[in-house]
Amino acid sequence: MSDTPATTPSHFIQKIIEQDILDNKNDGRVLTRFPPEPNGYLHIGHAKSICLNFGIAAQFSGGCNLRFDDTNPAKEDVEFVEAIKKDVSWLGFEWQKQSLFTSNYFQPLYDFACVLIKAGKAYVCDLQAEQMREYRGTLTQPGKDSPGRDRTIDENLALFEAMKNGEFGDGERVLRARIDMASPNINLRDPVIYRVKRATHHQTGDQWCIYPMYDFAHCMSDALEGITHSLCTLEFEDHRPLYNWFIENSGVDCHPQQIEFSRLSLEHTVVSKRVLSGLVENGHVSGWDDPRMPTLAGMRRRGYSAAAIRDFCQKIGVTKSDNMVEMAFLESCIREDLQDRALRVMGVLSPLKVTIENFPEGTTEDLIAPNHPQDESMGTRTIPFSRTVYIDQDDFRESANKKYKRLKADNEVRLRYGYVIRCNEVIKDEQGEIIELRCSYDPDTLGVNPVDRKVKGVIHWVSAEHALEAEVRVYDRLFNVANPAAEEDISSVVNPESLISFPNAQLEPGLLNAVAGQGYQFEREGYFCRDITDNDSGKPVFNRTVALRDSWAKIEKKG
Ligand code: ATP
Ligand code: MG
Repeated sequence: MSDTPATTPSHFIQKIIEQDILDNKNDGRVLTRFPPEPNGYLHIGHAKSICLNFGIAAQFSGGCNLRFDDTNPAKEDVEFVEAIKKDVSWLGFEWQKQSLFTSNYFQPLYDFACVLIKAGKAYVCDLQAEQMREYRGTLTQPGKDSPGRDRTIDENLALFEAMKNGEFGDGERVLRARIDMASPNINLRDPVIYRVKRATHHQTGDQWCIYPMYDFAHCMSDALEGITHSLCTLEFEDHRPLYNWFIENSGVDCHPQQIEFSRLSLEHTVVSKRVLSGLVENGHVSGWDDPRMPTLAGMRRRGYSAAAIRDFCQKIGVTKSDNMVEMAFLESCIREDLQDRALRVMGVLSPLKVTIENFPEGTTEDLIAPNHPQDESMGTRTIPFSRTVYIDQDDFRESANKKYKRLKADNEVRLRYGYVIRCNEVIKDEQGEIIELRCSYDPDTLGVNPVDRKVKGVIHWVSAEHALEAEVRVYDRLFNVANPAAEEDISSVVNPESLISFPNAQLEPGLLNAVAGQGYQFEREGYFCRDITDNDSGKPVFNRTVALRDSWAKIEKKG
């Protein structure tokens, strides 16, 4: 029944469902749902929930609904609806039928509320928010009954209808469940079911001026859709009795089972749409899809593949214990995915001009380089070599000790897939900045070592005349601290060096045809992919997806 590989033991939710199927619960049917609120873009935490819900559906030959939990029109928008659909599809999942909306059920939800009222289990309350808090009591003190609690059924029905008909102002009256003001579980102290809110809804326009609260809308929508297992994060554990109470008291004949699992948190970033939306609004990032954002849109733009993200979600597992994952772990999954499939190329981020004085002017030699040194099947490409090439400024020093294996004045180095060159002269500008190296090449060293001496270093380069000029953006952790969500002022821990731009990078000419999403390894520099748009001056932009190795731990220790 389970098609999970034998090497992956089932997690606790899979075990529960396996047992349910053995017991023929729900006639062996499995239907899950992923219920995002369309108030922002999906982030990596949502990916965990998506992989879980759609993964369970696939494993048990069931289905998974995509349902927009759209009960808060003030914060929601169709832009987010569309972005969420795109991201779920991109991650590789297909939802049942069309996408669904809680707002599709506003009428049945209203009717369920009336069922509760008629059973004496809901009432209209006039307390204002402040008073209601006061009446609710505390963990050590029971709550007090609202004066509305004793209204007659008829009075409640009439008042609720008046709420619906717009006869009250926002916040003036609410509908509450009549449960237990002394319950040790505060969620059961007569929670609000409906509130008055005048806001144009992205799906239902101005049809409604009352909106159901999450705890009521969510379980009833689950029941209406025939969901069998309603998987949610741990903070809803205390809401489970309420989930069950609504289902049991509103006359539906379906009882989905709520099961909680731990949220994913990722170090050095935040997984909360509210906080992410603040970063966008305050201009800390360029948008929801800024490649530094932990959103699926940002990660896609940065070059993370859907397969790598799914692999990450699989590896972190599903448990009930806290799940603070190191960024380095996510990055290792990204690297693992790219190391086999990324084409190798050369790109110089901070170019330094090198003139090879004994190479004839106006000629080009085509050199051959493998697209992947460990995988011949990926083929080869030609790279032009000419009299002027660029190397990286970091790969030259006027003098350095023996450990420095790159180019030094009066020393040699090999150009990757090319010849050995010697630096004969260093040219500087008036400020003393090195602006050019005059070198010579040894024509007998293509693919072979010189016979009489050892040349240890190998550096990357590109031919100046043929190079593609591009902007390269190198990203780092968005926050300086592991747990930015714990900070009072999150702006104060934004890493000012989270984006470093190299505006005049010089890349192998073949990269002109690179498309967004295709991963490349710029040898010695990291994995990169082309951005979805060129920059303002019309240059192509390449984003660094991930460095070749994890260097953060070291930097962090250095402080
Ligand atoms: P946010 O605070 O980012 O808005 P949320 O839980 O309010 O998070 P929803 O749009 O309501 O966001 O979430 C849709 C689904 O994704 C829910 O079932 C929720 O439990 C799940 N989810 C959200 N964040 C995480 C996370 N960090 N880890 C695992 N699941 C998550
Ligand atoms: Mg939410």
